[in-house]
Amino acid sequence: MPHDPLTAEQREIRELVRTLARERIAPRAAEIDKSAEFPWDVVELYRENGLFGLMFDEEHGGVGASALMTLVAIEEISKVCATSGLILAVQELGSLGIKLAGSDELKRRFLPKLASGEWLAAYALSEAGSGSDSAAMASAARRDGDDYVLNGSKRFITNAGVAHVYVCFAKTEPDAAHDGISAFVVEADTPGFTVGRIEPKMGIKGSTTGELFFDECRVPAANLLGEEGEGFTLAMRILDRSRPGIAAQGLGLASGATEYALEYARTRETFGEPIVRHQLVGGMLADMATRCEAARGLLYRCGALIDSGADGPELTKISAMTKLFCTDVAMAVTTDAVQVLGGYGYIQEYPLERMMRDAKITQIYEGTNQIQRLVIAREMLRD
Ligand SMILES: Cc1cc2nc3c(=O)[nH]c(=O)nc-3n(C[C@H](O)[C@H](O)[C@H](O)COP(=O)(O)OP(=O)(O)OC[C@H]3O[C@@H](n4cnc5c(N)ncnc54)[C@H](O)[C@@H]3O)c2cc1C
Repeated sequence: MPHDPLTAEQREIRELVRTLARERIAPRAAEIDKSAEFPWDVVELYRENGLFGLMFDEEHGGVGASALMTLVAIEEISKVCATSGLILAVQELGSLGIKLAGSDELKRRFLPKLASGEWLAAYALSEAGSGSDSAAMASAARRDGDDYVLNGSKRFITNAGVAHVYVCFAKTEPDAAHDGISAFVVEADTPGFTVGRIEPKMGIKGSTTGELFFDECRVPAANLLGEEGEGFTLAMRILDRSRPGIAAQGLGLASGATEYALEYARTRETFGEPIVRHQLVGGMLADMATRCEAARGLLYRCGALIDSGADGPELTKISAMTKLFCTDVAMAVTTDAVQVLGGYGYIQEYPLERMMRDAKITQIYEGTNQIQRLVIAREMLRD
């Protein structure tokens, strides 16, 4: 067996997740895509099997299985269903603010329910007018006694309408840029908080992507994460740790598509032999598998770096590289996998057209891949 950086225990968890993915999630993937309905049955499956607990410490009701293990789980699930893989990735994205900057009280209140999966989480940074340039956000929060009062809106928020806990960013100093941003935990049932339109999308259709509105939405001052003005730095520290989750989703799509295309190419015959024997097809599959292996190497390295406690510029750079590379691989490899199947790749009876549609978003969210390149170049200049 080739060298595997996972421990025996981690390999066991991977096996469990792989089995759940193949037996329970794969048969649902086409239907989730077709219905575009949030798959609560998958959430229930994760709850029953303790999968949300992978990314939480024992102290907060999880199993403390490491960042690497979480990435492996997201990869395994995304091999068969990218929407389902995203549910795990966004639970981490939406919880990280509380883990990194929440008071002990906030941690006690929220993390155990997020670790069990009783509550889902969301991360609300983007607005209609501010995506890449997140410091241009218009949402505002003003202090009023023991509360903050939030006004404004967010757009494109994953888990909108299904999450109970939203980590939201708003300006406590409207005229400042990065330094004027603060982060708050907002519960779904807070008066003045509403969910607007859920967007129909090209892919990851079972995941909700929606608008949030804050209309004189009053949250306790105790829900502030860190100090006033620290929100932008926190938003970026969260992304350093969550972008690898999107990389894992991308790698899952790429490896799942490669496995599928290889099996197909073994049996589909043209000109008297299996298409895999035609060197142009075999070469394409070789490139796809090689890209996946390279992406996995980078992803595992990034997971190990997070587990080593790395923070700051080193993590920022490797995390951006991992997100960039794995998701570009996802798009290239799923596109090639469709090509390997020829006309069958393009029709809905086969999973590859869905995987190609699902792959596209991985190059866009949690910072577009243009933004990842800017981040990497900036960090290289710092070296
Ligand atoms: C399905 C989905 C789910 C999402 N989930 C979330 C979520 O949960 N939470 C959240 O906060 N956000 C979420 N987003 C928002 C997502 O992160 C943003 O869409 C993304 O960051 C890009 O922002 P934008 O759409 O405003 O594009 P823009 O920032 O307007 O960018 C448009 C284009 O210009 C390029 N560009 C912009 N600036 C530069 C530059 N300086 N140099 C080079 N190129 C540049 C971009 O790469 C892009 O190609 C989600 C989006 C989608 C579609």
